[in-house]
Amino acid sequence: MKGNDGVTTGAGLSLKIWGVRGSTPTPGPTTLRYGGETTSFEIRCGDDLVLVDCGSGARNLGGFLHGGPPRAFDLFFTHTHLDHICGLPFFKPAYDERFSINAWAGHFADKQELMDIICRIMSPPIFPVAAKQLKAVTFRNFVGGELIEREGGMNISTVVLNHPGGATGYRFDHAGKSICIITDHEHGVPGIDSALRRFVEGADVMIYDAMFTDDEYPTYVGWGHSTWQKGVELALEAGVRHPVMFHHDPRRSDDALDAIAEAAAARHPGALVAREGMVLTP
Ligand SMILES: [Zn+2]
Ligand SMILES: [Zn+2]
Repeated sequence: MKGNDGVTTGAGLSLKIWGVRGSTPTPGPTTLRYGGETTSFEIRCGDDLVLVDCGSGARNLGGFLHGGPPRAFDLFFTHTHLDHICGLPFFKPAYDERFSINAWAGHFADKQELMDIICRIMSPPIFPVAAKQLKAVTFRNFVGGELIEREGGMNISTVVLNHPGGATGYRFDHAGKSICIITDHEHGVPGIDSALRRFVEGADVMIYDAMFTDDEYPTYVGWGHSTWQKGVELALEAGVRHPVMFHHDPRRSDDALDAIAEAAAARHPGALVAREGMVLTP
């Protein structure tokens, strides 16, 4: 089958990356090739559609989805830092009652906390349109680490990550294929690291928070992010086929990301660096 975006998709799992950047959007001449939008993922499995995060990249994704038939889908937040939610006020399907969107988070005690966060960014004078205008959205909650019970083609499991304020990692499984999204996360807490190693075991694709390099990391201990070297190490230990470096530092130029891509592939032949528009079909 041919997707509307011109990408060949089938009944199996596929992932499209609509935003790769961490912290803040970074448009400009030095980020043209890898992209400057913040985190947004589209995951499909046959008719089943799931989005992860709603950073600035979700504005384009929303335009694409709104151009198609109205439908129901789930939106899972890794967490609610601004770079992961700033696209929601510009996500067209959320305002259209013909769509039905379950918005989930796993790092809060209840769904009210998620609603309150969105209400905070979508209230005057910060933003002129109030969150109650998101007519298509129902806020939901789960406990990070649980399996998500839902109808659809994919099995979804979750894991608690190490990040200020909490964050959730996701694993999507279907017919022996798997995609993991591990962002935002800082390595170094033994219990969390070993649980994460088990969680991503044997995955085909692992999106990984590679904001820093090992050289930079000592300056940023406690900021809640990892390094591309740690991502490669984890992939080698857990038998991950394609570790995909993600959540690029806003200062990281296309040329610097080319260098990371080359160095990472020298250590793990399946290693990749996330690019806006990249489609992965394990
Ligand atoms: Zn982030
Ligand atoms: Zn964060």
